[in-house]
Amino acid sequence: MLQVHRIPAFTDNYFWLIQPDTQSSDCYIVDPGAAQPVCDYLDAHKLQLKGILITHHHPDHIGGVSELRGLFQIPIYGPKSAKIPQVTHYLKEGDYLELGRLSAKVIEIPGHTLDHIAYLIEEPKDAPLLLSGDTIFAAGCGRLFDGTAPLLYAAFQKISQLPDATQIYAAHEYTLANIEFALTIEPDNHDLSERKIRETAKREQGLATLPTSLILEKRTNPFLRCHLNSVRGSVEQKIGKQLTEDGEIFASLRLIKDRF
Ligand SMILES: [Zn+2]
Repeated sequence: MLQVHRIPAFTDNYFWLIQPDTQSSDCYIVDPGAAQPVCDYLDAHKLQLKGILITHHHPDHIGGVSELRGLFQIPIYGPKSAKIPQVTHYLKEGDYLELGRLSAKVIEIPGHTLDHIAYLIEEPKDAPLLLSGDTIFAAGCGRLFDGTAPLLYAAFQKISQLPDATQIYAAHEYTLANIEFALTIEPDNHDLSERKIRETAKREQGLATLPTSLILEKRTNPFLRCHLNSVRGSVEQKIGKQLTEDGEIFASLRLIKDRF
């Protein structure tokens, strides 16, 4: 059976550790921003690291890569990017990566950065796992660094096409702050206010709010709801002008969030 382990690091990062089969100690780490928390976890759980998966070049996602490679001599999978020279196996849209008995499909989702990719593990098929880095968060979305709003909007459209039951493993615990912002956009969204209560309770117990599911994001994440009048009306009111395209709503929403 597949198991995904969560390794908390820094103030709000999660490094996701994929163990394709609990009968085996083999595992793969996604976006290790530091080596020590990974090594400690492997030791404590008697797991063997077989590879590193990278979503994008930010230091809190690749900071531990060189040290882990030095310790374990394992392949490093990631996008072809001048900013990630450590990658040994380049991946692009549509590639499949073998992770023991599993395979992960590569999806290019630039926007947060130009080199951003995600990994989709299609098991089970109707409820796959998405390792999405810093693109989509619970109730929110990544900031724009070297990518653009139209690219990030297209990435969100791509993600929204996945099965509703998709489990989204984002790389940061930003959920409560994102919900606060989302409520300023959709104060009457009952799914959102109910979610705030549930997620707040989880955090008070020291639990993670991730993974999230695509269906829950469709109900509560304003960045996936730019086609709805509730989000459009709120964005237009905040910026004081009317917009035509959903992509423009998305871009304005991102700007409003930057200033929140
Ligand atoms: Zn990032």
